[in-house]
Amino acid sequence: MIKYISEYRDKKLIEDTLSEIRRISHKPVTLMEVCGGHTMSLHKNGIPALLPGTIKLLSGPGCPVCVTSRRFIDNAVAAGRMKDTVVTTFGDLIRVPGSETSLEKEKADGRDIRIVYSSADALKIASENPNKKVIFLGIGFETTAPSSAVAILRAQRETLNNFYILSAHKVMPPAMAALIDKGVKIDGYICPGHVSTIAGSNMYLPLVENYGVGCVVSGFEPLDLLQTIYMLVRQHEEGSVKVENQYIRAVTPEGNLKAIEQMDKVFEPDNDWWRGLGVIPESGLKIKDEYKAFDAYSQFQLDEEMDASFIEEEEGCRCADVLKGIISPPECSFFGTRCTPEDPAGACMVSSEGACAAWFRYSGKGLVL
Ligand code: SF4
Repeated sequence: MIKYISEYRDKKLIEDTLSEIRRISHKPVTLMEVCGGHTMSLHKNGIPALLPGTIKLLSGPGCPVCVTSRRFIDNAVAAGRMKDTVVTTFGDLIRVPGSETSLEKEKADGRDIRIVYSSADALKIASENPNKKVIFLGIGFETTAPSSAVAILRAQRETLNNFYILSAHKVMPPAMAALIDKGVKIDGYICPGHVSTIAGSNMYLPLVENYGVGCVVSGFEPLDLLQTIYMLVRQHEEGSVKVENQYIRAVTPEGNLKAIEQMDKVFEPDNDWWRGLGVIPESGLKIKDEYKAFDAYSQFQLDEEMDASFIEEEEGCRCADVLKGIISPPECSFFGTRCTPEDPAGACMVSSEGACAAWFRYSGKGLVL
């Protein structure tokens, strides 16, 4: 396992790992990554093209922007149209199409929509603008949810009464289980690096026990991913699935207990909607009643219903199938024509971590050995 930065670029280690993968892989195996950073790194480094034909790689619902619903964007747009409101958001989200418009178009129309790099930036805006209502769009998985929780706890401590979070935070294991429940054939998960840094590798034990699927937590460098693929292929060949941790330099079995504590203090599990997967029980993070003064849903009567309008996509957009690994992005008829990173038709082309964007930017490129 990689321990030192110098090893990332060790040509011999990379060549040896690739040879080992080719040597041990005999049975067909399907592996899925559920992390936008992994999707990008795999394609940027041309790893799929280097693997033997026995190994099939699928991209799953690992990009937070991609799985966020149109309804969430519509709610953010509605919030931005309210008097004296500032909507703060991570940059990628402003380009995701809502039902009729996007936050980017709303900004161009003069709404006060600001790009921030963290919930702490949003908190600062609230503190400096006491006459404005500042709403932070909380998206992301276990990686970003703790910082949203900390922002709420700080706002409470500092008695800020103009700071709110519109939460679309989600947790990863229920979605990984739902994919298998929905019939997607997966032999092994390349488990997300950042999510596991917070939540710990033990989080995947129930998946292994209940679904018989291999789980290996991976880092982001090409050699990390190759080692992870090797470990999953070995599990598959030996018929012994388990949780393993390739990313030992960042991930522990228990995770970051302090961050988990903050997250659990503010959020509770709730049903949530994922693009491509629909409503998954207990897969979302809802702000607890105790902190509802900071919950944009309850303070501004925004629409939380998870009805059919959640699933409306532009006709022809196949994001839902891409996110389930049913098709690869070039199989969507919009890919590279009606839909490009400059003018995305679907959420998977917006974020650089989206599967369609990664395919578009990097297909044809290969790891130079
Ligand atoms: S190419 Fe565009 S429209 Fe097609 S699935 Fe990807 S993001 Fe959606």
